[in-house]
Amino acid sequence: MAQGSRKTRQLLVLGAAVLAAAVVALVVVGVVLPLRSTEKPPAAAAPEARERAATASEMDAAAARATQALRAHDAGAWAAALPASGRARRSVTALFEHVARLPWTTVRIVAEPVDGHPGRFFLGAVGELAGADPPDRIMARRVYDAVARAGRAALRADVTPRDIRGQQIMAFRAPVVVRRNGLVVIADKAEQAAAEELARAGGPARDRLKLLGLTSRKPVVVYCYASRAEMRRSLGEDPGEERVRFFSHPPIHLEKTPTWTRDVGVLGPALAGKEAWTPQMLAHELTHAYTTSWFVDEKHAPTLLAEGLATAVEGGRSFQPLRDDLAAATSRFPLEKALRARSLWKGNAIGKVRLAYLEGASLVLYVLDHWNLRHLKAFVRAVGDSDLTRKGLDAAARDSLGVRWHALRAGWTSFVQTLP
Ligand SMILES: [Zn+2]
Repeated sequence: MAQGSRKTRQLLVLGAAVLAAAVVALVVVGVVLPLRSTEKPPAAAAPEARERAATASEMDAAAARATQALRAHDAGAWAAALPASGRARRSVTALFEHVARLPWTTVRIVAEPVDGHPGRFFLGAVGELAGADPPDRIMARRVYDAVARAGRAALRADVTPRDIRGQQIMAFRAPVVVRRNGLVVIADKAEQAAAEELARAGGPARDRLKLLGLTSRKPVVVYCYASRAEMRRSLGEDPGEERVRFFSHPPIHLEKTPTWTRDVGVLGPALAGKEAWTPQMLAHELTHAYTTSWFVDEKHAPTLLAEGLATAVEGGRSFQPLRDDLAAATSRFPLEKALRARSLWKGNAIGKVRLAYLEGASLVLYVLDHWNLRHLKAFVRAVGDSDLTRKGLDAAARDSLGVRWHALRAGWTSFVQTLP
């Protein structure tokens, strides 16, 4: 445990980082922000005579007992493993009630000391959820001040920072899980019907993934939010983009290595009246989930290509706005500039965002149409490895498709005229 503890020490702390940026960018950039502690610990009361701060080994022992209790779904044993009083008791009970409802395939409770605060610990439920990537997912976590009583740890105060208190499943009052079509849909119990409808749409959504040869049945976790407030709680911070309603983000997990898939977030009410579009929306987000690994080893992960892959799979869009833009004297968002943009959303009106999505999708469809899937993957890799300058793009096109960039651009412009 000690070795594992040291390894995970900072990771439980840092896992809260920049989900928002990842959500908007849709491709991980890998910046880690320090944890913001938004709650001050309670004023130091005079400690009881025989009370002292709990040690790491005492908390490790408590976590091991809590793990057994959780695996046995034994609420009594859980309470005995993690004795607590007042708000800390309500908090640790809620932690059990939420995590016990999840269909984990493996789970353990991990306790990690918070540096510089003797007796303060992160307590996280870590494991694999319903066979979905990754195996070291942090499903829920809390921060406690713990004391030792008669050689055993007891939780005295919940000092979980605001930005991680409601993260992921803790955003839901009573989470339910619907598993169908390789989706693990998590929603509030009151939203069970919406969760089931979403899971059903996973079938037709998966049919669309064949365009990119994506046949994996590896489950993907989908959070279905009943409100924007619930979505914000679950993400741990505001995504900073009011227009975002459907998105993907990397799961929070212990290791810093990239995950193979991504989790999907859906703002349920945004689907009202758009039920027929649900499979397409899911196909778009599942494409992000399954193609994130295409970008892993590259210098850049151009958002335009990630969105291009997802929008091509989504289908059903009219490319007329792109034809209009190509016919205009000056483009509102030239292809090369859009390829260099880290975010297609930031500072851009929705029309410009949609135009970029059409540029990306048509570029993907063009490469698939004039070459094939193997060449498309090579093209994505080569562009991602380039410095995204004109010269870099030209070299990428030559290396992967055997044409100069200007020829590729001319062919693409003609091809756009043939699209719906
Ligand atoms: Zn997207």
